[in-house]
Amino acid sequence: MPATLARIWRCGGRLVVQLVLRVEKPRPARPDPKSALLVYVRATEYGLARVLASREGERTKIRDVAKHAHRLAQRRLMSGARRGGPVPHARGWTAERVAEIFASARRLAGGKPVLANIDAEGGYFRRPLLRVRGLVENYANWYGVYAEYKSYPSSECPLCGRALKVAGVLRDRLTRVARCECGFREDRDYVPFHHWLKGLGLPPPERPIRKLPGLA
Ligand SMILES: [Zn+2]
Repeated sequence: MPATLARIWRCGGRLVVQLVLRVEKPRPARPDPKSALLVYVRATEYGLARVLASREGERTKIRDVAKHAHRLAQRRLMSGARRGGPVPHARGWTAERVAEIFASARRLAGGKPVLANIDAEGGYFRRPLLRVRGLVENYANWYGVYAEYKSYPSSECPLCGRALKVAGVLRDRLTRVARCECGFREDRDYVPFHHWLKGLGLPPPERPIRKLPGLA
């Protein structure tokens, strides 16, 4: 049953009544990762990084990779500031981005079930992402996405387990390239995604999952 909430306040001599209608949908069943559209969302210093993928035969195919940078957080990184106080409206911004990611996953899935992992481990946006967990769960149910909150390492090689080294930072300041002695090389924000796939028992994707210009 939808729940209704009424908010009433006075505004410039007028009485404003706002009715909030909350329609709740149940959490979908956990899909089989082999046949689901996979969504990975990771908190970062600048905002969120996301990967959409699905298993195609012997490979996991990357369907879409993107970084969502909060303008102020990116500007601070560009200026070389280590930290610069709180980012205004970080929670609302984060919840909106996650809702957009779920909506685009739903479109891309074309009827397939959607399995999402929300990784709130890295960077400044860790805290806003954790704080909006209830909202994220509502959005997930609304879009029929099965969402879990698990964290995976970004500084450990998913192939051999050695510690990764940062080989360089790209000019946009959003990308740190991680490298391992064994030959593994990846945008550090997407390293946890490789660990997630491994944990799900899925085959590895082509690497790096996103082109890394300037560091051939
Ligand atoms: Zn390695």
